[in-house]
This record gives sequence, C-alpha cells and structure tokens, in this order.
Amino acid sequence: MRFSGKTVVVTGAASGIGAETARLFAREGAVVFAADIDGAGVERLVSEGAGDIRFQQCDVCSTDDIKALMDRAAAETGGIDVVFNNAGAGGARAKIHEIEPDEWDRTMDLLLRSVAFGIRYAVPHMIGRQGAAIVNTASVAATGSGYSPTAYAVAKCGVLHLSKVAAADLAQFGIRVNAILPGFINTNIFTASLEVPDDTKAIAKAMIAQASANAQPVRRGGQPRDIAEACAYLASEAASFVNGTGLLVDGGLTIGQRPSW
Ligand code: NAD
Repeated sequence: MRFSGKTVVVTGAASGIGAETARLFAREGAVVFAADIDGAGVERLVSEGAGDIRFQQCDVCSTDDIKALMDRAAAETGGIDVVFNNAGAGGARAKIHEIEPDEWDRTMDLLLRSVAFGIRYAVPHMIGRQGAAIVNTASVAATGSGYSPTAYAVAKCGVLHLSKVAAADLAQFGIRVNAILPGFINTNIFTASLEVPDDTKAIAKAMIAQASANAQPVRRGGQPRDIAEACAYLASEAASFVNGTGLLVDGGLTIGQRPSW
C-alpha cells in the first residue's frame, strides 16, 4: 500500500498503459482520478472495483478540461500527490516533407502541449505535498529511433526534455518530475500503428520484428503492467533521489541484439 492516502491523477486511463497504472495505484491505496476522452472505457475500469477510481471526462488537447481535472481532484481530496501525464495516440504519420501544418499542430497539442499544461495546472495543488511527483509518458521514439513517425518522435523528445526542465523549475517546491520511455507495449496504439498505408509497410514490418518476443533481449513482448510498475516506482518514496530523468522500459530493444556469432 505504497500510495495509501495519496491522490493520483492519470490521463489516458481508459485503456492500455493508463488503465493498468490507474489499477495499480488504486490497489495500493490511492484515490485515482482517471481521465480520458473515452468515458465508456473508464466506466469499465471503474466497474472492475479495483479501488477508489473516479472518472473525469477530459480531452487533454483542451486546457480548460485539464484545469477542471486538476481542480476537481484537489477539491475532492485536498491536493494532488502524483500526476501521470500519459494520454496519447499515434498522431500524424506523414514525413517532414509532406506533413501539413494542422497535422503537425494536432500531434503537438495531443502529445506535448497536453503534458505541459498537465504540469502547469497540477502544480498549484501539489505545492506543500510531501513526496509529490510527476511522471510523463515519452517513448523510445525520444531516443532518436527512425521507426517512429516524425511529429510523434519530435513531440516525445519534447516530453523528455520538458520533464527535465520542469524538474529544474519545480525543485524549489520539492516536486520531482521524470519521464518513462516505453518500448513496444501491447496496447491499442501499438496495434493501430501496424495498420499503416502501403508506403510505410516497411516501417510496420520493422516494428513487428522488433516487438516480437524473440527480437527483444528479454525475449517477450512489453505489457502495460511493465510501464505501470515503472510509473509507481518513479512516483514512490523509493525514487526520491530520481529526478529529471528518462527511464527506458523497453526490454532492451534500444540496445539491440548480439549477432549470432
Ligand atoms: P492506448 O490507446 O491503449 O491508450 C491511450 C489512451 O489515451 C486511450 O484511452 C485514449 O482514449 C486516450 N486519449 C487519446 N487521446 C486523448 C485525448 N485527447 N484526451 C484524453 N485522452 C485521450 O495506448 P497506450 O499505449 O496505453 O498509450 C499511452 C501512452 O503511451 C501514449 O502517450 C503513447 O504515446 C505512449 N507510448 C506507447 C507505446 C506503445 O508501444 N504502446 C510506446 C511508447 C509510448
């Protein structure tokens, strides 16, 4: 019960990584505010009865929605201890020489601006809370891998860097900020990323190869639970000296495999 008495906000909680993380925090005693645009998905999660999970409808592209989420969590419980800025989707697939301005903007709004304002509107409710921590979902795309679509990769690099500068900004309040860089995790986003137009089939094939159990050094595919556990660690007292960093949770994907010799 590492999070007994704590208030935790999770975005993108209707499925995948966010849902599993909300479950884990709730099982460990937290009051969890589970935010998503997919209300039905969060209602399913709530109905599992994993603990005190409260649904908040929230489009993370709307700063009004993000502010309402943070204000509600604080109003109902007295403050916020942990925020997991995690909501996302694949974003624009076009390459840099083809991308349109509105596709670029939509991807940045969903993946990067959402995290900036998730921090912005949570912090006033986190000041003075012992052990306050923010965790943001970046991606292995932030390491510079060529598999990810351009705008997605740039946005996730932004999330990693934002986590570092926010850690510097918020140290004065005792709030730690870190990012998680998931590898290929078995969720809706990952499967959707395999349904790509013909001209990007090569990328999809490479991703399948990378994600297959035998292609990764740990010899299994990544699961939402792997990221939930990493998030709980970064949010916990055990990580009180871990600040402004990006934790790769990719089964060794980015170190690659030894050749068979
Ligand atoms: P997922 O599709 O299962 O979950 C994403 C959730 O975000 C969904 O519940 C969706 O409804 C929600 N969402 C989408 N747009 C939203 C919006 N505008 N406002 C609020 N909620 C919104 O996929 P996932 O893999 O669990 O994704 C979680 C995060 O992990 C994302 O930020 C994604 O980029 C990141 N990530 C995933 C992988 C992977 O392989 N699955 C790898 C690296 C990073």
